[in-house]
Amino acid sequence: MGRCYALRRLHDRILAFADTKRNDAAVQKKDPDITLITAEAPIAATTHGGRAKCLQRLVRLDLPVPCTLALSFQTVRRIAAGDRPDPAQLLSPFDHDAILCVRPSSEDPDWGGPGAVLNIGMNDARYVEFSERIGKTAAAALYLRFVQSFAVHVARLDPDVFDDVDPDPVKGLKQALAAYEEETEEEFPQEPAAQLTEVLRSMARAWEGTSARLLRQAKGAPANAGLGLVVQEMALGLGEGECGSGVMQLVNTQTGARQITGRYLSQSQGRDALQGGADALFLERDPRGPSLEELAPEAFARLKAYTALMRKRLREEMQAEFTIENGKVFLLDGVRVTRSARAAIAIAVALAEDGIISREEALMRIEPRALNELLHRQVDPTVPRDRLGRGIGASPGAASGRIVFTSTEAQASAARGEPCVLVRRETSSEDIRGMHAAVGVMTHRGGMTSHAAVIGRGLGKPCVVGVTDIQIDMRREQLVFPGGRVLKAGDSITIDGTSGDVLAGDTPLLEATRDPALATLMSWADAVRDIAVRANADTPADAGVARTFKAEGIGLCRTEHMFFESDRLTVMREMIFADTGEDRAAALERLLPMQRADFIDLFRIMQGQPVCIRLFDPPLHEFLPSDRSGLRELAEALDLPLSDVTRRVETLGEYNPMLGLRGVRLGVTMPEIYEMQARAIFEATVDASREGAPVVPEIMIPLVSARREVELVKTRIDAVAAAVRNETGQEFTYRLGVMVETPRAALRAGEIAPLVSFLSFGTNDLTQMTYGLSRDDAGRFMSAYVQQGVFPEDPFHRLDADGVGELLEIAAERGRKAKPGLVLSICGEHGGNPESIAFCREAGFDYVSCSPFRVPVARLAAAQLAVKSKITQDVDPIVR
Ligand code: PEP
Ligand code: MG
Repeated sequence: MGRCYALRRLHDRILAFADTKRNDAAVQKKDPDITLITAEAPIAATTHGGRAKCLQRLVRLDLPVPCTLALSFQTVRRIAAGDRPDPAQLLSPFDHDAILCVRPSSEDPDWGGPGAVLNIGMNDARYVEFSERIGKTAAAALYLRFVQSFAVHVARLDPDVFDDVDPDPVKGLKQALAAYEEETEEEFPQEPAAQLTEVLRSMARAWEGTSARLLRQAKGAPANAGLGLVVQEMALGLGEGECGSGVMQLVNTQTGARQITGRYLSQSQGRDALQGGADALFLERDPRGPSLEELAPEAFARLKAYTALMRKRLREEMQAEFTIENGKVFLLDGVRVTRSARAAIAIAVALAEDGIISREEALMRIEPRALNELLHRQVDPTVPRDRLGRGIGASPGAASGRIVFTSTEAQASAARGEPCVLVRRETSSEDIRGMHAAVGVMTHRGGMTSHAAVIGRGLGKPCVVGVTDIQIDMRREQLVFPGGRVLKAGDSITIDGTSGDVLAGDTPLLEATRDPALATLMSWADAVRDIAVRANADTPADAGVARTFKAEGIGLCRTEHMFFESDRLTVMREMIFADTGEDRAAALERLLPMQRADFIDLFRIMQGQPVCIRLFDPPLHEFLPSDRSGLRELAEALDLPLSDVTRRVETLGEYNPMLGLRGVRLGVTMPEIYEMQARAIFEATVDASREGAPVVPEIMIPLVSARREVELVKTRIDAVAAAVRNETGQEFTYRLGVMVETPRAALRAGEIAPLVSFLSFGTNDLTQMTYGLSRDDAGRFMSAYVQQGVFPEDPFHRLDADGVGELLEIAAERGRKAKPGLVLSICGEHGGNPESIAFCREAGFDYVSCSPFRVPVARLAAAQLAVKSKITQDVDPIVR
């Protein structure tokens, strides 16, 4: 290997000494795209790939990297197209008897590439030579490994034939060579130059193959992603003295905790140590068995120092791939340590705390959505998945439980202490208690903003919706999955609300963690963030989670959920069935103290932070039973004939309830409901303000489409406020706002804004109404629409910046023009989506509001946007 080091030095000196004489360099010959990796060589990840660039960094650190040649994307493309690189140029940097390996070097190492081929240059003559030097078995092992990979990856012969040879390398080699000759009717190629060019050609072509392309595109690679290749002189890992190979990293892949991790295997190559079973050694002294530290303390110490140096200078936790040759350590490669989301956070925070990267860089290194992995239970990624079907992962996390088909069964199951998954065609408000009781929810229909999805996210429970390829047979209480597998009520099932998978049986889950590193990272995020994040929270439990996740208030409290508690539902139904305004007022009178108590709880939990309460929104029939037994129960409870109840329920039915009598339309036509709610809010305000900081409640009117609706409701709420002030003798203020969820409200924001303090965009309904696309039915065809490129993404998931976004911009501009200082926010499900947050920040919104469990994701996403725009601003003057 000595010749290469000399060449590297010479090469660098020549480059440094005389730019003009560069063409004289001993190594940089005909093809400038084939480059010896030296400290100064013109290598970039974008031209030669991440591995080549990383190896150059190791060379710059003076680490013992064997001589390596990098082939650029261009060169590899030409080779794939049929060009033959000059073998003399390829072999010139290496000792004449060097054994080589070729590894892929894609721009982003995560995009993968063809497998490495080791021991190129082995042939019959070398086998004899090496047998004398390192022993016959070791020599045969080297040669056999090469014959096997050449046969399978280059000559494309049947892998089974070559895997299935005698375990004794000497015998195995004989068999493999014979099999090669038999299959190809040619001798195994003996010429190292020919071997090398064939390996390069096959690796270059493998990258161009369709399945390889699809695979890397699925990992985010662009269609034209290039492949570089590196040709490296082998440090053999076999032979006399202490020889072997292994990998070392300084952190635990799952937790990110500081811990020397890896294995070493004597007389081995590549990553064999990781499959080395009982023969593989621990690296550091370990009570479980022998270690490299004991076997070769000097080599261990060196490796530890090298890996630590990589961490410091490459500013990343790296895994060192190393070989020991007769006691001497070589670093073959450095790869970014693979890591769970939890480890990624721990690593980024530790690097920043050690002053290796800035806090801002640590923030930028974490994909906000990856936080879901920490905040929710996950399916253990190491366990094989028995997938029954797939839907839309609508609320992250995983849950295993017995199948139940009704809300009542879910509650009974929970009461027995048996975890259950509630399976419904779709959920409605009646299912809320069942959803509370279940560990997860799966629905046949629905999309990202259907009822189950919204409630599931709110509760922080895993939810998979739109599993359209199952049949639910409610009568037989069974599910039929594609392929005919049948699961019955009581059978175990696992849902993965992150991926949308539905799995058979109880699958091992990894617990959610409350990691101190996450808390640190989030505190850094809050320090740079310039848009506020609130939570959508309806219950004291939600509000508690919102506080835990440091939401800056409640941006949407959907009050109707409070009426589904069993004691309230009957009163609510009495109110709906009231014949006169007086009867309605009497029923509402009974609901008032319950609502007041709800709001007092919320104000107390939020401790002076803003709480935005949305007045009653859904159509009334959602509170009524739809099946016969429910109707009978209702008739009994109200002491009315069943026929009366049935008729009344039918009259309340609407052809298109989402566009019917709901939201502010109820407020206008049955004003007593909003009056009761306003009173409950104000009395709770007075109560909560007695104990702590004065509460300033925010009251939001849903589904507005005309200014006059706001005027009518505002006049009544003002009157209630005046009455409560009068009755209690307490002063208080409140802020009134409009929820912009109809296109007309967005367009007429200029005339609505002067009446209110804030506009909050309900982008679930606004998306539904802008597209004319039912949020509860979109799941049926959404994947076909996205696959065929009709929509770039589910618009209920990622805000449609073009259409719905334009309405938001128009409303923001007209609203703020009519009322400077108007507070703007988003409270639809998009509020927790990083891309949508970018839009809102750009449009100058004051805050986003999302389900409590998405608050950390939103805080981090918002922080990253602030860092990015700071970087752009800092860079701008230079660019100009
Ligand atoms: C909305 O429509 O965006 C919204 C937040 O309200 P809901 O989901 O309750 O209709
Ligand atoms: Mg809405």
